Amino acid sequence: MSTHLPGTLAVHAGQQPDPATGAVAPPIHLSTTFRHGPAGERLGGYEYQREGNPTNDRLREALAALEGGATALTFASGMAAMTTLLESLPAGSRVLFPDDCYSGLRMLFSEFLPERGLVVETIDMADLDAVREACARPLSLLWVETPSNPLLKVYDIAALADLGHAAGALVVADNTFATPLLQRPLALGADIVMHSTTKYFGGHSDVLGGALVFARDDDFTRKVAHRLHITGAVLAPFSAWLILRGCRSLGARMAMHCANARRLAAFLAAHPAVARVNWPGLPTHPGHAVAAAQMRDFGAMLSIELRGGREAALAVAGRLRLFTNATSLGGCESLVEHRASVEGANPRSPQNLLRISVGLEDADDLIADFAQALG
Ligand SMILES: *Cc1c(COP(=O)(O)O)cnc(C)c1O
Repeated sequence: MSTHLPGTLAVHAGQQPDPATGAVAPPIHLSTTFRHGPAGERLGGYEYQREGNPTNDRLREALAALEGGATALTFASGMAAMTTLLESLPAGSRVLFPDDCYSGLRMLFSEFLPERGLVVETIDMADLDAVREACARPLSLLWVETPSNPLLKVYDIAALADLGHAAGALVVADNTFATPLLQRPLALGADIVMHSTTKYFGGHSDVLGGALVFARDDDFTRKVAHRLHITGAVLAPFSAWLILRGCRSLGARMAMHCANARRLAAFLAAHPAVARVNWPGLPTHPGHAVAAAQMRDFGAMLSIELRGGREAALAVAGRLRLFTNATSLGGCESLVEHRASVEGANPRSPQNLLRISVGLEDADDLIADFAQALG
């Protein structure tokens, strides 16, 4: 199975017909407890839902196959995956994060991780010289998120993995925006891939989940798994089933998401009201060459910066009809969001920026909606 291409793995991994009934669609095992022998012998391999269950194991198998990892863990959310991983590091660990990253990660490392004794630093990971300098001192973990949120910066995973490893660090890649259909960080040298499966994996804006995929099933992997099973931020079986269902169409959806994004980005880049389009597929994007080398396609997240500042951005967001003003991404429906308005007291996103999750509607309708909204 693992020799197949990602599009095939997405359809088949974790998808063996149910041995008990032959059912082609996987059953959902909701049981919290599993019969064991009088001395606690595990008869069917399971004991208690928090420790593992068959529906979750199918999803774990699919995720590990898709990312080319040795094993995967699933979590109640992407944030639960991140937190469980980062809290598995010993106190005093020095951790390097990118300056442009998911806002939840930013809150985690600025509010919570220092309290746990982690030493947190941020850096522009597109500046490899700066990263090299930061890696001159011992480092426990280097976090990559590419393309990044919300500026769609592109970071060179292979180069960062080399620099991180030379400093003794684990290298972790948040692959939520790209998915393994477009980018496989473990093959580029990363040690762990993190996902918010809430996004493209779920694909229908109706399930919350997270995952970690590990290149090796080693002591650290087992430490994270143990922490998950004891602290309990586990994925519910029904959620695992929905995410597994999302896997089956992930290849087809990503192809259409990317094709729609390409059309919309080209339209927006040529529009006089738009000062800048942040999408790595544009040849003018500073990370285009790196993205072309490490991605199969450029994804369907983009952001635009309006010439008219904050007022123009809010007006355009208000006039869009097909794009819903909402947070999150990766669903069938296109979304738009003025990030600075939802980032709390100290927004980092430019005030003239709108982030766009390009959905699966007809591209002509998406372009027409922006054409009327931009005026
Ligand atoms: C949404 C998201 C997360 C957090 O995942 P949740 O499932 O919302 O907890 C992390 N990273 C990226 C890039 C995201 O888009």
